[in-house]
Amino acid sequence: MVSHSFVESLPHPGRRRVLAGAGAGLVMASLPVATAIAQVREGVQVGSGSAMSALSPPAEYVEQESAQQYQQLLQQARSRNLLAQPQHPQVIRLNYISERLRPFTYMWNERARSWQWEVNLIGSKEANAFCMPGGKIAFFWGLLTQLKLEDDEVAMIMGHEMTHALREHAREQMGKQAATQGLIGLGAALFGLGAGGRQLAGMGGQLLSLKYSRDDETEADLIGLELAARAGYDPNSALTLWQKMQSTAQGAPPAFLSSHPSSPERMGKIRDNIPNVQGLFDRAPKPDRRFGPPGTGVNSGHG
Ligand SMILES: [Zn+2]
Repeated sequence: MVSHSFVESLPHPGRRRVLAGAGAGLVMASLPVATAIAQVREGVQVGSGSAMSALSPPAEYVEQESAQQYQQLLQQARSRNLLAQPQHPQVIRLNYISERLRPFTYMWNERARSWQWEVNLIGSKEANAFCMPGGKIAFFWGLLTQLKLEDDEVAMIMGHEMTHALREHAREQMGKQAATQGLIGLGAALFGLGAGGRQLAGMGGQLLSLKYSRDDETEADLIGLELAARAGYDPNSALTLWQKMQSTAQGAPPAFLSSHPSSPERMGKIRDNIPNVQGLFDRAPKPDRRFGPPGTGVNSGHG
């Protein structure tokens, strides 16, 4: 049961206290070093992360719920013959790019080390992509074809979506939603038993339709930019990506755009942050495989 396992994995308060006590001396001793590191951290400048409320469900719960919904989605796609096979050139491409970014995610969220990352391609004309909590990624065929995305541009979207998971934006939004639904006052009981548990499950059912705040989107743009740059993908492609989004929007706007409006402000923030990751990109080992959009035949005989 979901509720059983997340209760199990909650940190034991006694153990925590012991660790905090033992660690105190260490923290003191290494403080000057830590400060120095903080000052020279290379990359984008973002805040300290999502603000969780007392009503935000535990990360374990959100990840389990996410994994279930992701499997349901794959099952639906499979039953309509819309799930691309692992050997499909574009699935290989998406996996390759995702694996390059992955090692750089851990510095943003330690939990990401133990996530069962997954990448799937869904044969829908819709131009969309997402990464659910716990690293469950899906790209829609329409996004790759409609925008004719190059590898660097895919890496920017991949980094953006991974950041939503890394910074637990869904969990944050679930907490906010619980507050607006009048669940304030139920407190910790909400996460355990009975009716509270059912309400929580109801919230989880909306994982895929959650809307993120503008701050979350900015964070995803910037951290995504850094993840991609560290993985050897050109940060300037974030600009070409949004230009493509904008020019496509005049005809049939990509679904991605409805949750990610392209604006001069958005482009401006990305442009301002490119110099912060340029050095990381310059020094990064570059991808040893290049693919290209569907139909170009680069590094693949078909697709
Ligand atoms: Zn986003």
